[in-house]
Amino acid sequence: MADGTGAAPGDAVDLVVRADWVVVGDPGEGRVLDDAAVVVADGHIVEVGPAQEVLVGREDVPTTRLERHVLVPGLVNTHAHLAMNMLRGSASDRNLADFLAVVMPLEARSLTPDRVERATQAAAVELVRSGVTTSIDMYFLVESGLRGAESVGLRLLTGPTLIEGGPTTSTWDQVITAAGEWLDERPSSGTWRPVLGPHGTYTVSPTQLAELAEVIGGRDCILQIHLSETEAENEVVLERHGGRPLDVLEDAGLLSANTLLAHGVHLDPAEIDRIARVGAAVAHCPVSNLKLASGVAPVRDLLAAGATVGLGTDGQASSDDLDVLNVMRVAALVHKGTSSGSCGPDATALPARQALRMATLSGAEALGIGAHTGSIDVGKVADLTAVDLSSPWIEPVRDPVGSLAYSASRHDVAAVWVAGRPVVSSGRCVSVDERDVALSLRRLGEELRQS
Ligand SMILES: [Zn+2]
Repeated sequence: MADGTGAAPGDAVDLVVRADWVVVGDPGEGRVLDDAAVVVADGHIVEVGPAQEVLVGREDVPTTRLERHVLVPGLVNTHAHLAMNMLRGSASDRNLADFLAVVMPLEARSLTPDRVERATQAAAVELVRSGVTTSIDMYFLVESGLRGAESVGLRLLTGPTLIEGGPTTSTWDQVITAAGEWLDERPSSGTWRPVLGPHGTYTVSPTQLAELAEVIGGRDCILQIHLSETEAENEVVLERHGGRPLDVLEDAGLLSANTLLAHGVHLDPAEIDRIARVGAAVAHCPVSNLKLASGVAPVRDLLAAGATVGLGTDGQASSDDLDVLNVMRVAALVHKGTSSGSCGPDATALPARQALRMATLSGAEALGIGAHTGSIDVGKVADLTAVDLSSPWIEPVRDPVGSLAYSASRHDVAAVWVAGRPVVSSGRCVSVDERDVALSLRRLGEELRQS
């Protein structure tokens, strides 16, 4: 029997994808069907199962056949500043404070709607070519960013970023007004949730955070904020406000199941429990944290406490790319390497299936859209990523999930669908010319050097 009770054979279908391996259900359980097919209608998965069963009566339906490919849920990026690709390479080999001192003035000189749209388009190309179907963003000139993402077919959840003395000329009153209007104009629906992004408790005051909580009221949104990225941040906030970042956030009324905490590297055990209890999520960004020498987040403790942990790239100025597959591998490796216990380091820490879950379903749950995407299940939107496992650097394939986590790279991503719509085919973006996009990004870099 095929899984699910979706469309009967012969129903009008938009798409059938047949792959040698399909990861079905909860990716953390890593159930892999050999030679399986996914049937998509109206952007949703309507049937999943062994190909010889699913294809019966559908012999005439166009089928995408992917031999030696694994089909997984589209990857989800839970923390990013997409248009910061303009600043890629501008502040390497610095810790966070020195990094921000270089990047923030550069940003202030570089932001225009046209630049943000072009940069976000290039970032969207990078994301979908890395197998990502959904990303959050924390950046400025939101409508421009959305246009850039939409031109590529990436699902982008975004909204106003709030920061005192930020790179735009907007006053706090203007920004907080824009936040309220964003929630009015773009209410949650299906796979969309509006995002509000106060930058951090060291860059937005407790009074301003409380004001934001009042503006949100009971409305649904993702409240995305940097939190406890470094020990220095914890110390500065404690000295300024008499509490640690999580205390300040909670006192302002902004710690809830809608809260998405970027980084959470320096959390204490009591804070981990509070995060898990309230149902807030953490965006784990190990590549950015390692490059800025911020430390290693207590991910195993967060998971043990029951917290939702997704994976994030952070901005390309700090992590240099938007490669969520690489983030997945680094997460799996770094938590083995830094694990400790009565028996010493533990190679079973964060196994491949758990890393894949963090990159997919947990990411979707962290964004509050896990009921709609993040796994290959009947009824969910058809966000699918196919990765070619036939290369000399991957074969022989004994466990497709292990091959994906430890051998494959984003250059092996062959096809991507967002809600059933193809955005990557034969390893190339469908809707834009990648060479033009790369040239546009190169020109942006040249413009910024001259500004
Ligand atoms: Zn960030």
